Amino acid sequence: MQPLAEITTDTAILRKQSRRVDRRHNIEPVISKMRHLMQQHFGDMEPVGLSAIQVGVDLQIMTLASEGDHGPPLFILNPSLTKTRGTQMGDEMCLSVPGRQVRIRRPYQVTVAGMNDLRRPVRYRFKGFQARVCCHELDHLKGVLITDHETGEQ
Ligand SMILES: [Zn+2]
Repeated sequence: MQPLAEITTDTAILRKQSRRVDRRHNIEPVISKMRHLMQQHFGDMEPVGLSAIQVGVDLQIMTLASEGDHGPPLFILNPSLTKTRGTQMGDEMCLSVPGRQVRIRRPYQVTVAGMNDLRRPVRYRFKGFQARVCCHELDHLKGVLITDHETGEQ
């Protein structure tokens, strides 16, 4: 697969720790870029989540497709994982790590607190696939990639 225009595959960028968003940061440009990319197709892949670092911005901003793909994507700024329950195993791919698929154990359910794109406090509880996507994006904010989870576990 070709590297994707506008979504970086550069590990020097992807390995950065994202910084907390504060009131000085103008986040509108990166949010509108992420919103746009969430509507694109990349080969046969459609994004189900993205983090700002994937477009080269090291701020703690992530987005997830809404459940069942109805409605606009959710944005979470400065997310923190406050609770997890259960586990699930499943395969993950990443637009920043083209051509790789890694089997990863994740919590089955997560609770995440942060702010939405209007900087209002939000708290979400995700299950199943959305919980998996949420954990994947939280990893990006810490500079962690799917290949870091390779354990040989089937
Ligand atoms: Zn990813």
